[in-house]
Amino acid sequence: MPAEIAVEKTKLKNPPLKLHYLGDRVLRQPAKRIAKVDDNIRQIVRDMLQTMYSNDGIGLAAPQVGIHKQLIVIDCEPDNPANPPLILINPVIKQVSRELCLAQEGCLSIPGVYMDVTRPQLVEVAYKDENGRPRSLKAGDLLGRCIQHEMDHLNGVVFVDRIDNSLALAQELSQQGFSMQAVNHIP
Ligand SMILES: [Zn+2]
Repeated sequence: MPAEIAVEKTKLKNPPLKLHYLGDRVLRQPAKRIAKVDDNIRQIVRDMLQTMYSNDGIGLAAPQVGIHKQLIVIDCEPDNPANPPLILINPVIKQVSRELCLAQEGCLSIPGVYMDVTRPQLVEVAYKDENGRPRSLKAGDLLGRCIQHEMDHLNGVVFVDRIDNSLALAQELSQQGFSMQAVNHIP
């Protein structure tokens, strides 16, 4: 019987998990594969979902809450109670489109910073769901972008690493109290 994973999409004053922010080396450590999807993992998923909803996020990767596991939660419609969240365990990118697109991103680990990032328009990902079943998904638009953004976190990459315009980035980061020294630019 599939386990019940859904949590209420409400904002808690004290969400169960603490976010880590740009500059914290926790965000730079790669995440480990999950060997077994069990109740312990499902409890982490619930805690991550509540933490994401409480912070007005649409995606959260486990390293952002200091958990070095290949685990991602996403909900592109957090205000729609009927839209179930997407849970990706041990996700692997199978294919990306050659076509790229540019869109604005933000990150719960870099609050207040929003900048345009170029990424493949479409992504195909294989993963396990919260019951350990293998699944795959092709996604574009906001969902495709969100999956790529969150998968970067599993590799210790944050979206600002992908921004070429370092002048604009430095300005944007300093306005929000972050330092360029925390950025690992990807050529
Ligand atoms: Zn992020």
